[in-house]
Amino acid sequence: LIELDRAHLIHPVASYRGHENLGVRVLTSAFGATVTDANGKQLIDGFAGLWCVNAGYGHDSIVEAAAKQMRELPYATAYFGLGSEPAIRLASELADRAPGDLNHVYFTLGGSDAVDSTIRFIRYYWNARGRPGKDQFISIEQGYHGSSTVGAGLTALPAFHAGFGLPFDWQHKIPSHYAYRNPVGTEPEAIIAASIAALKQKIEELGGAERVAAFYAEPIQGSGGVLVPPKGWMKAMRAVCRELDILFVADEVITGFGRTGPLFACSEDDIVPDLLTVAKGLTSGYVPMGALFMSEHVYQTIADGAGTSAVGHGYTYSAHPVSAAVGLEVLRLYEDGLLENGRRAGARLMAGLESLKDHPLVGDVRGRGMLAAIELVVDKERKTPLPAAAEPARRIFDRAWNNGLVIRAFANGVLGYAPPLCCTEAEIDAIVERTRRTLDETLA
Ligand code: PMP
Repeated sequence: LIELDRAHLIHPVASYRGHENLGVRVLTSAFGATVTDANGKQLIDGFAGLWCVNAGYGHDSIVEAAAKQMRELPYATAYFGLGSEPAIRLASELADRAPGDLNHVYFTLGGSDAVDSTIRFIRYYWNARGRPGKDQFISIEQGYHGSSTVGAGLTALPAFHAGFGLPFDWQHKIPSHYAYRNPVGTEPEAIIAASIAALKQKIEELGGAERVAAFYAEPIQGSGGVLVPPKGWMKAMRAVCRELDILFVADEVITGFGRTGPLFACSEDDIVPDLLTVAKGLTSGYVPMGALFMSEHVYQTIADGAGTSAVGHGYTYSAHPVSAAVGLEVLRLYEDGLLENGRRAGARLMAGLESLKDHPLVGDVRGRGMLAAIELVVDKERKTPLPAAAEPARRIFDRAWNNGLVIRAFANGVLGYAPPLCCTEAEIDAIVERTRRTLDETLA
């Protein structure tokens, strides 16, 4: 398998020279929060795949839901006004639970195309309101909004931009709220004030609110290193957007579906965005699916503007019945104890990681619920980052792997945690214990 992988399979974000030598690790089975590799080694999946297997592995009821739907109706297009029962039911169940009046659901294949779709719908929206000049989009440094060309432009990763002329000239960014390394310090009020000022200044630079279509924010910046904004930050940014008539898009691809506690992190932040994107936990990674929610006014404006003509946007696999059937079963599981277990496990995880603060390498511990990170430094006082050259992320990942733990080791010395919500107390304790061992070995 390793030979074949080297010869034929291109991995995402591969570092091409050297990737050959890293060696792929092939997973063969999994149950609960435990994955097993081709050598029979068992590990706790502290990252739920890629922040997605929220329900954990091996749920027969999910498998049955998919199999039943495959037998009855494996595919139905959402084009030509056709539909399938699971897609309709899932849209309705999700709309019931989404914050405020986010009543309309558009299904995609994953998070990137959900974000892509928001751009297209937002342009339709402003055109329908007779304001086509509102065509500039703002997101945040350290943000991640997908790997499609448009999403990659909103994403703040140079490796995703190089060679594509990205970001597009209509895509702009303001600095992150990143509390641990914020020039304005760590005080919540100062961070919120700085973000408000940065957004308003960016809007001014772009020619005023007349030019700005939308602002994108993750309730917690996931891929940027699990950066948790201060309480009230989302609400403050949402208020600026409302005041200036700029659409506010919450990207909940990671934070949705229990990752931070509730089904939607926005409800903890006490805001209702104009649009909201999800993926990952929506189907718990068993099959691909994403979605975007539109609030009533966004949907109605687009519908009125389009009248009887088509709004040209969609995928062959939009509203896929098998994905929707899985989504319905996963939703049932969330409400049948998973969210509750995730809340308890999340509190234990955060307390466990906090207990690592006394470790000489741990500069910062942050997170909410089952979404957390520790940031490693060589000098706590100066917050000196772990030198990537001397201590590559891959080596820390490997040490954790050898200790029976899968975590995300980011390039900047940040270790990310997003375990399945089904974790037992013993598994959470093992995640913390194996992390401590990994840090001790890194120090040595
Ligand atoms: N938005 C956010 C906030 C994400 O974290 C991700 C993926 N990590 C995406 C969008 C893109 O989702 P996908 O990988 O399913 O296309």
